[in-house]
Amino acid sequence: MIATARLLSVGLSDPLRPGAGSPQLRPLVVFRIDAADGLAGRGEAAPLEAYDGVSVERVTAALERHRQALSCLPEPADTVQLTQALAACRAADPLPQALAAVDLALWDLLGHRTGMPVHALLGVADPSPVALNATIGAVTPSEAAAEARGALAAGFSAFKVKVGTPDDRQRLMAVRDAAGPQALIRADANGAWDRLTAPERLRALSRFGIELFEEPVHGPAAAAALQRALPDAAVSLDESAGAALAGGARLCTALCLKISSSGGIAALVADAARARELGYEVYIASTLDGPLGIAAALHAAAAVAPDRHCGLATLDRFDRPAPAPLAAAGGYLNVPSGPGLGAGLIDWY
Ligand SMILES: [Mg+2]
Repeated sequence: MIATARLLSVGLSDPLRPGAGSPQLRPLVVFRIDAADGLAGRGEAAPLEAYDGVSVERVTAALERHRQALSCLPEPADTVQLTQALAACRAADPLPQALAAVDLALWDLLGHRTGMPVHALLGVADPSPVALNATIGAVTPSEAAAEARGALAAGFSAFKVKVGTPDDRQRLMAVRDAAGPQALIRADANGAWDRLTAPERLRALSRFGIELFEEPVHGPAAAAALQRALPDAAVSLDESAGAALAGGARLCTALCLKISSSGGIAALVADAARARELGYEVYIASTLDGPLGIAAALHAAAAVAPDRHCGLATLDRFDRPAPAPLAAAGGYLNVPSGPGLGAGLIDWY
């Protein structure tokens, strides 16, 4: 197989975390595998250094090793050969953010070869639409209310609100007022709270009817202590989900899984199965992925059947339109139905 990697910078129209460190240009790496018969598969690496600490330079170095590993292999004709090709790449460099790009391109190529969408290759013939949450950044309460009203009008019934700033209460109150009593409101602190103060903050914010506290504290041990202190609150890990899975025990209510940090579609589906064995609920989110990554997450969601709303309505954060197969409607995204990851996705890049 001949593979090529192409680094792109895509402008963000609405950075999630305004202020210091916010990316205004989002690097994405498109990884293309060309087969001898003229078919091609495309994947995407979406490292987000501010979130996962993985630089785009580290990813491109890993993808060069993967490219060399693939050059010695025939293109996969079935899922067994796909798994073998991915294992060869993992042996060359195990970085999940880069392996995800290879995994996506291999699934896309196999889908084009067989004429089947990836969800069908995963054994799901007729996938349900995936329920999504809207995301409201660490903005002022009035801006948060306006964003919530816009999302409500667009059909969303679940809202993830960034917290961890001094005006959390006002922001959550504004979103609750705007979204109404039935709305699911999730609070994502990105680990902003420490072990000592987190219980008090969760109790104070719970009066707004919080569906889930995502990464309120960093790390499995701190999350486990918090969940023990507040057994009725739903605590989820996002940044620390991989560490929680590696620990081999249920520490809190849920884990948020991502194509990039799991290392692709097959790895995410395996992580979800492992998480459920341990007793976790699971849901899926993006790391500001482009359409190839969002489509991959939708195919994975078809196989996983997430327990809660997924954070995949993020393409509108970019300053270009979502491709037609990935336009959210009524708070849902359909799993693409064309061969591979879906038709027309690459035109966005
Ligand atoms: Mg999060």
